[in-house]
Amino acid sequence: MSNQDVKSSPLPWYKEGLRFKCTECGKCCTGAPGYVWVTEEEMSAIAELLNISLQVFKRKYVRQRDNRYALVEKKSQNNDCVFLKDNKCSVYQARPTQCRTFPWWKENLNSKESWDLAAQSCEGINEQAPLVPYDQIEKGLK
Ligand code: SF4
Ligand code: SF4
Repeated sequence: MSNQDVKSSPLPWYKEGLRFKCTECGKCCTGAPGYVWVTEEEMSAIAELLNISLQVFKRKYVRQRDNRYALVEKKSQNNDCVFLKDNKCSVYQARPTQCRTFPWWKENLNSKESWDLAAQSCEGINEQAPLVPYDQIEKGLK
């Protein structure tokens, strides 16, 4: 694609921004089984916050899938993320990119329909929430 093509690309359907404000309800940290992927850097950052070694962190808090690591889920507690405590993220300052960038995921922004679907499980996406401008969404997009 040439520069000219990029310039002439139409803006996406959410060009006027989208309404979202996290209520910190913790719902996206529990429920259906899934994977919160973490890189070595992210694991090190959380380990540092917890004041433990990376080795101990890996033993206690992640599971390995192929060559990747994902945070442990508590199967007996509705698949809560291992770091969800009293409905809050206990490692919030060092939370992984996957958590930091929600709900600005490509799959949620593919269409108005996919955004509305995300709203069904995230109460922060609603008509009363503040409008997040387009350029800010693009910055958070993963
Ligand atoms: S479900 Fe939405 S509102 Fe609730 S904690 Fe997650 S991002 Fe925030
Ligand atoms: S790391 Fe924190 S924000 Fe991410 S899923 Fe776990 S509890 Fe939620």
